[in-house]
Amino acid sequence: MAEQGLELYLKRDDLLHPIISGNKWRKLKYILEHALSLKAQTIISMGGAYSNHLHALAYIGKQLGIKTKAKIRGERPAKLSPTLLDLIAWGMELEFVSRTDYRQLRQYKQHDALLDMQAGEYWLPEGGAMVLALQGVAEIIAEINIEYDALCVPCGTATTLAGLVSAAAEDKQILGFAALKGASFLEAEVQHLLNNQSCHNKQWLIQLDYHFGGFAKVKPELLDFIQQFEQQHQIQLEPVYTGKMLYGLYTLMQQGFFKSGQKIIAVHTGGLQGKRGFATL
Ligand SMILES: *Cc1c(COP(=O)(O)O)cnc(C)c1O
Repeated sequence: MAEQGLELYLKRDDLLHPIISGNKWRKLKYILEHALSLKAQTIISMGGAYSNHLHALAYIGKQLGIKTKAKIRGERPAKLSPTLLDLIAWGMELEFVSRTDYRQLRQYKQHDALLDMQAGEYWLPEGGAMVLALQGVAEIIAEINIEYDALCVPCGTATTLAGLVSAAAEDKQILGFAALKGASFLEAEVQHLLNNQSCHNKQWLIQLDYHFGGFAKVKPELLDFIQQFEQQHQIQLEPVYTGKMLYGLYTLMQQGFFKSGQKIIAVHTGGLQGKRGFATL
């Protein structure tokens, strides 16, 4: 992007670990520490058939010798996704729940909030959206050792964004790119997660226009962009989160959203296992 005089860097959280990639490790780190401190024996969570969150959780559970269970959105498909097969292989117990029941589960936001919990069980809300997750995400900021003006991140639950906002200096601009349609509710979620922290002077914003039709929906121009980016930079993207963020970010850069000379860092949040759901990539 030399013509706009902008510099773009990627923070490669996709390289953190071959399986527990990106922001899922950041979010889980202190949540797991908390679960272990409570002597939890089973962690129960929820997600879709391609969930990066469940993928990371199941693998970590196996490594730590903690039982994991998951409520999966929708009916059991005749052919299980590669992600679901991994979850089963790593010993996660799966329960398929209707879309209505799945939505209901989103109201339980605390580790002990699920109904009918047994002793030793720990409830982990969708996407690891807990205040405890922010602390791990904050470590991304601590690791950045170059000067920058703006930090960009894709948003699902916007927990990662909240963690970046909590830790970034006030002169930094934090930009989220919503992976889902109609995501204006995410602003309140971020406020809620930041509730106990004084972040009034922080500059953050969620771009709502780069969802490409909805969560995990794609369009040819997005897939073309991803293929071009991968060829040019030899860095893999996936279409659910990182592809949409970078498409949106490139568009903003071309539209003059940033001031000439600014340095921008985009967080590559990983999630490449989810790419297995897209045959054309
Ligand atoms: C889960 C995920 C996100 C979204 O993170 P939130 O904290 O839920 O906003 C972004 N990128 C990737 C690759 C993910 O797997």
